[in-house]
Amino acid sequence: MNIILLGPPGAGKGTQAKRLVDERGMIQLSTGDMLREARTSGTEMGKKVAAVMDAGNLVTDEIVIGLIEERLEGDNGAGFIFDGFPRTLAQADALGELLAAHGAKLDHVIEMQVDDDALVARITGRFTCADCGEVYHDVTRPLPADGKCVNCGSTEMKRRADDNEESLKTRLMAYYKQTSPLIGYYYAKGNLKSVDGLASMDEVGASIAAILDQG
Ligand code: AMP
Repeated sequence: MNIILLGPPGAGKGTQAKRLVDERGMIQLSTGDMLREARTSGTEMGKKVAAVMDAGNLVTDEIVIGLIEERLEGDNGAGFIFDGFPRTLAQADALGELLAAHGAKLDHVIEMQVDDDALVARITGRFTCADCGEVYHDVTRPLPADGKCVNCGSTEMKRRADDNEESLKTRLMAYYKQTSPLIGYYYAKGNLKSVDGLASMDEVGASIAAILDQG
């Protein structure tokens, strides 16, 4: 089963994708994570996209479509979770073609609905464990008193360079101008489902599970 998690930055796509990886063995394909990895490992492509990402703009369709194309080879039968991809209509068309070329299809596009004020609050307080990626928040999910990650015990935490108010404005604008048309696109294709992204992490997880269990 192949699904897209669609929603603005901070909607909880990455958090829910990780749950699906743990619970169902699906493969998370996050173009944001792939681009950050390319930056950390210092590849030419990583250097090229760094400034664009930090400002909160979208990198070119060609780059992200190439990244996804490579990863589709690693199919494990449990399916892919597309997280942060596609973000433009051209990417959505390309994904449809790539899946068809692999004899596969998209089963569900799950829109995670959240309001803009909540996004700003979520993103500006967000940090993650540098070792395992567990997500925390200054106000809503602080570290325990011992300062150790609840998942792996690490004390190394990190914040994304683009999780600041200025970049967030640009990221939100990119979402509304370039990505939100995908909601209509997938509605018209007949595979759009919506969940309330403001509910608790467990409730959102349960809503997504209910959609996937319908088949
Ligand atoms: P994310 O982790 O999904 O919030 O992505 C972080 C940043 O990576 C975005 O603000 C973009 O600069 C870039 N990025 C990630 N995925 C895409 C995509 N599908 N298309 C264009 N740019 C992307």
